[in-house]
Amino acid sequence: MRDCPVCTSKDSNIIFDIKYPVPETHFLGNYQTINSCNNCGMIFSDSFRDQASYDKYYLSLSNYSPSSEDNDPANQARIEKTYAQIKKHITFDSKICDLGCGSAYHLEYLHSKGYKNLSGIDARLEIEQSKYTYYRELISSFDTGMLKQFDFIKCIGVLEHIYDLDKFLINIIRDLNLSSYFYVEVPDASEYHCKIVSPLQDFNLEHVNHFSKKSMENIALRYNLDMIFGETIYQPESSNYQMPVISCLFRKPASQNKKANDLKFDNDLILNINKYIKKSQEILDLYNKYIEDFTQSHKSIYIWGAGQLALKLSNLQIFTKLKVEAYIDKNASQNTINNIKVVRPSVGLDSDIPILISSTLHEKSIRQDIKNLGFENKTLSLPATNLLEK
Ligand SMILES: [Zn+2]
Repeated sequence: MRDCPVCTSKDSNIIFDIKYPVPETHFLGNYQTINSCNNCGMIFSDSFRDQASYDKYYLSLSNYSPSSEDNDPANQARIEKTYAQIKKHITFDSKICDLGCGSAYHLEYLHSKGYKNLSGIDARLEIEQSKYTYYRELISSFDTGMLKQFDFIKCIGVLEHIYDLDKFLINIIRDLNLSSYFYVEVPDASEYHCKIVSPLQDFNLEHVNHFSKKSMENIALRYNLDMIFGETIYQPESSNYQMPVISCLFRKPASQNKKANDLKFDNDLILNINKYIKKSQEILDLYNKYIEDFTQSHKSIYIWGAGQLALKLSNLQIFTKLKVEAYIDKNASQNTINNIKVVRPSVGLDSDIPILISSTLHEKSIRQDIKNLGFENKTLSLPATNLLEK
């Protein structure tokens, strides 16, 4: 069983488990438990893999063209919110490193604002850019000493993906100078239950750590860091959803004054995650009924969208009797779901078979795509959860 990523305790309970309809040969497996740490209350998943499996998986994604988020209008709003959090702590001459920079859109933004000393580290894409220095390295195992040159290291949407978090944090903190900052943004798991737009969305094979503000405080205690701030901000993910994100800034203290055994147990995180699971399951039951009512006179269906919700829907009871003809997705990162083909939207569709839109986050843009491609099939959208609540 996986050790707790925050306190490394081996003592945890399994509170939930999920089977994913991906091939058994998937780098990240097809089964995951959700565990709660009995020492610090951290929530994390275990898919019985190791960091090397995750590294192989993320390297395999590097074959893809720049991610769809580059064209996402919510992207610009997210970057601006992050910039508002960090701008007081950087100068135009600061040596800034984006650890896990993806396709470097944050660096691009900082460059446009006039920042000059910009670097990015990621294994995903080879970026030929004169505006910043690019290091093609696995962020789980970059070279010792590499980060010493930087005044400001930012890690946005990264820590939740790191299987061996202890090693990762030790690598960063070892290289952190007394005058340097370490900025982190991670999803706030203690708020997953507050506004569920897509049930169980936050449990997926990529997100292996589910942090709260208290778990970030425990990280500060355990690795002897000062937390300059730690607060929840709301980052736009789509036109109808803002994701709760913990934004924190760390720095090394001038003296070693903390003890790792002062960690605080986070009881609220477990309670809130249990609420999230219960509420998500209720929504999935409702979706099952919606699809059943909609398809009464049909034997098969197309599912448009092969993302997280499609994976969760595939476990619904309705699909034991309703055949999925094909999954349709323009950015599919897998070839099959439950051995059913994932195809591009350009293929011809049988106009008698209805379409289920399996995304609540991108429902509007999918509906537009269907219209633009001239498909006139009967189409069902699933209501976002906030619409289901009275
Ligand atoms: Zn723990």
